[in-house]
Amino acid sequence: MPTTECTALAHSQGPSLTRWQLLGAVTLATLSICTLAASAPKMSRMLHTPAASKHIPVKSTQSRPISLAPSGTQRRSSLEHIVTSIPLVRHAHAEQQTSWETQQRRATSEIQASLTWALFMGAGSLALALTGMRTLWAGSPSPMHQMAMAATVSTRDVKVAPPKEYIPGTVHISDSFDAGNIICEETSVDAVRLRIKPDPYTAGTDNCHHMQWFYFRASNVKGRKVKYDIVNAGDASYKSAWPGYNTCASYDRRAWFRVRDTEFSEETGSLSWSLDAEHETVWFAYFAPYSYEQHQELIARVAASPLARLVVLGDTLDGRPLEMLTMGTGPRKVWIVARQHPGESMAEWLAQGVLDKLFDDSAESQVLMSAATFYIIPNINPDGSVRGHLRTNASGANLNREWASTGDYMAPTLERSPEVYHTLRALDALGCDCYVDVHGDEEIAANFFADNAGIPGYSTRQDKLHKDFLAAMMAASDEFQTELGYGSDEPNMANMAICQNQIAARFDCLAVTLEMPFKDNLNKPDLIHGWSPERSMRLGHSLLSAIGTMLPALRG
Ligand SMILES: [Zn+2]
Repeated sequence: MPTTECTALAHSQGPSLTRWQLLGAVTLATLSICTLAASAPKMSRMLHTPAASKHIPVKSTQSRPISLAPSGTQRRSSLEHIVTSIPLVRHAHAEQQTSWETQQRRATSEIQASLTWALFMGAGSLALALTGMRTLWAGSPSPMHQMAMAATVSTRDVKVAPPKEYIPGTVHISDSFDAGNIICEETSVDAVRLRIKPDPYTAGTDNCHHMQWFYFRASNVKGRKVKYDIVNAGDASYKSAWPGYNTCASYDRRAWFRVRDTEFSEETGSLSWSLDAEHETVWFAYFAPYSYEQHQELIARVAASPLARLVVLGDTLDGRPLEMLTMGTGPRKVWIVARQHPGESMAEWLAQGVLDKLFDDSAESQVLMSAATFYIIPNINPDGSVRGHLRTNASGANLNREWASTGDYMAPTLERSPEVYHTLRALDALGCDCYVDVHGDEEIAANFFADNAGIPGYSTRQDKLHKDFLAAMMAASDEFQTELGYGSDEPNMANMAICQNQIAARFDCLAVTLEMPFKDNLNKPDLIHGWSPERSMRLGHSLLSAIGTMLPALRG
């Protein structure tokens, strides 16, 4: 999208602009000195040479050249005497005097102009040098730096390429909306060749371009079977997740259904499906999206209630506020954080289910809010969500590898992962007794918890809390299970840069990752919808019930 591309451009040009500032300062200073040097002889003559000694060629009325060469006062006086004693030449001398005065005024104005330019360039070079130094030392863009960046972005905006020629009658593809992600390589009346755009490179942790999320609109499709072909699906982050996956589709972006003839070809690496659409326009997505506009509506609805409070934790790299909603007044601190991986939109659907339940004014929700204070972050990665990323934020950081430094890789940082930086600061300030990190899993067709048995100092108390939480979820939801999952890390082998491991160790508390499927729950398959927003929200209700069961045991 244009706005985010501009922001990325501005971020990427900071250091080079600083160098250009300093180079500009040196250039202007040099020009200033040259200008002064060039005007110095003129100034010297103006200040130290008598006016009559100017070497001024004058033409007589007879077109004979008369030169009043400066060769000494005596000679000049005698020459003046000769000249002024001859009527014809006296007239020429009068003209010469007028011409000399004109040239003197011209020389004076030239010197003034030179001095003005020299002063202007000198001041400019000083300003550029100072702002360049400030940028280097302070590490933040100076006002001039920002103006230079804005000018660069503006220049880029002017050079936007013209659109491709659209052939009427063919299928039209667009991803120009919140969370959109697709490239249309080729289209016809009944077939479309597509490609998923990769996330920015995840340097330092994953060292790859993640890619799997897609979301686009197809228009002019009613009344015939159109084949859609994503030709780079074989390069996706979880290629093994495609078999058994059915594409999500919607005619109104509210009700989503699965396209059941979706197929992945191991041979060509292509994900394809066909649809004879009931309407002229249809949207396709990897999972039912939860748009940033929906997110804003959720925030507004909750923030307007006397039962909740909106807390802004800080800003993201794209300048979006990182929002936390707090509800309840009880002593236990319960955190529910969704969408570290922005393509896992089912996580925000679950967060909405949690909030709906807390607002339902039931006896259960009142008990929950009197026993605990809930800190809910419905979308911890809004930049990645709007940009249509699978796993990363605007800088390419996989937020679930940013909760601690790993070797030389420092995390979290404001430059790379401000979302985690802000959240961890709030956690340290407020405390934590229970933490649920909500995700979606591309491969496993089930709902499950990931544990943190591999953290240093994993205690029998934490192990019992985890097992009791599993049992509470099993009791609360028939969509939850404990057979499928990731398994446990070996003792002391947990990656402490992963959120749930860091939180469990940092606060000696119950912390889990809740995973939901992109495909379906194999124990309760729904061939029409697969795993869906509605089922995610219902699982959110069940999660709250299970947390309610756990509240008395969270601290001894
Ligand atoms: Zn995830």
